[in-house]
Amino acid sequence: MSAGLVQAAYIIAAVFFIMSLAGLSKQETARSGNYYGIAGMAIALLATIFGPHSSGIAWILVAMVVGGGIGIHYAKKVEMTEMPELVAILHSFVGMAAVLVGYNSLLDAPETATHAEHMIHLVEVYLGVFIGAVTFTGSIVAFGKLRGIISSSPLNLPHKHKLNLAAIVVSALLMKWYLGGDGALFPLFLMTLIAFAFGYHLVASIGGADMPVVVSMLNSYSGWAAAAAGFMLANDLLIVTGALVGSSGAILSYIMCKAMNRSFISVIAGGFGQEVSVSSGDEEQGEHRESTAEEVAEMLKNSKSVIITPGYGMAVAQAQYPVHEITDKLRAQGVEVRFGIHPVAGRLPGHMNVLLAEAKVPYDIVLEMDEINDDFTETDTVLVIGANDTVNPAALEDPTSPIAGMPVLEVWNAQNVVVFKRSMNTGYAGVQNPLFFKENSSMLFGDAKDSCLKIIEHL
Ligand code: NDP
Repeated sequence: MSAGLVQAAYIIAAVFFIMSLAGLSKQETARSGNYYGIAGMAIALLATIFGPHSSGIAWILVAMVVGGGIGIHYAKKVEMTEMPELVAILHSFVGMAAVLVGYNSLLDAPETATHAEHMIHLVEVYLGVFIGAVTFTGSIVAFGKLRGIISSSPLNLPHKHKLNLAAIVVSALLMKWYLGGDGALFPLFLMTLIAFAFGYHLVASIGGADMPVVVSMLNSYSGWAAAAAGFMLANDLLIVTGALVGSSGAILSYIMCKAMNRSFISVIAGGFGQEVSVSSGDEEQGEHRESTAEEVAEMLKNSKSVIITPGYGMAVAQAQYPVHEITDKLRAQGVEVRFGIHPVAGRLPGHMNVLLAEAKVPYDIVLEMDEINDDFTETDTVLVIGANDTVNPAALEDPTSPIAGMPVLEVWNAQNVVVFKRSMNTGYAGVQNPLFFKENSSMLFGDAKDSCLKIIEHL
């Protein structure tokens, strides 16, 4: 394939990637967005493999078969609830790839025409390795936190912000040494170790409730790491693709910070400027009330309007299908049923929308938090299905709570609230929920799917 043809293929692939992002921004077009992405990636791979700069095609094919085989195996096996973990670990691969490309590109430097070009290449390598290393360990910590191997509460080392600042300053000084030594390996290696520790510390310092922003930030970092690799390899498509991922991840993080009323800068700087919370709400909250499926079914039949607010527990229980059945049954009896979706419900952006779409719940009754939050006061019954942090009044009422300031679904304003969960355990942020102890709340204990099936029997 000639260089001109490869460039043309790269432009077509880049257009497909842009169309893919546009498609993925709406539920109705998400499927076609995926297909555009697949088409773009297929064109990009073919053009790269058969382009003029590739050699050892047999090796590339072997690597693709092995890597693709592992990818297909895990993609088939992974549960919907494990998707964020998978995404986090994939980000770590991008980070490691940027580190390896950086070292390779330094040791096997391309022939450059001028001194200036050579220096630019050295800077590209340094920055690429730095971003890649931060992304690598940061993503591994995010993976651990999402999987529950690492505690979701923030790591609070003494002088943590000074440590972060020191890591950046020392890395900048090492860059001077590295450039002065015409790409000296030792300072690059030292910086890599510092960047690994920096990435680890940055993400470990962030508490559970801010993890959604961290995951999308790491998505953004992995994009910049890929763009940096594109500069090192002089590959235009990798630069464009990396910039698309980097900027869309940054925009998503910004949107999520706004949705959670968090400062963007504070979250990306490892919780910089946030007060350490003193309350986890564990103090005595009072008595809770329990309901049975039969009572809940009766309550639903006597309601005119019902709002369902799903959360992570619905995903774990795979309760979206019986939830849809309850919805259908109630609507057939003339009850108005709607869904209220919190922007960070579940474990990945859009998690609840995906599950409800999977169960074929009509889109027009699925509303965002801002669209429905004022309607709870006129609602007879709210079913909180496996949600906890996203319906926690402490976010609004307790300024010392770790989730203080986060907008939540104000379900307690309804006449009756039924909470479906298995125990009195806390949600992901590890904060007790005063909702469970309110007078108009009752608990329906058990697996959310089983509870829904029992309610269907009584409806
Ligand atoms: P939470 O994680 O706060 O709570 C989920 C609840 O579901 C738990 O209290 C659990 O209680 C219950 N549960 C678990 N399994 C079942 C089951 N089989 N049947 C019934 N109940 C079950 O959920 P939310 O969706 O309200 O909040 C999401 C949290 O995750 C937020 O803190 C958010 O910041 C964070 N997060 C979100 C991400 C995103 O992008 N959306 C990414 C990373 C983190 P019990 O054990 O008693 O059953």
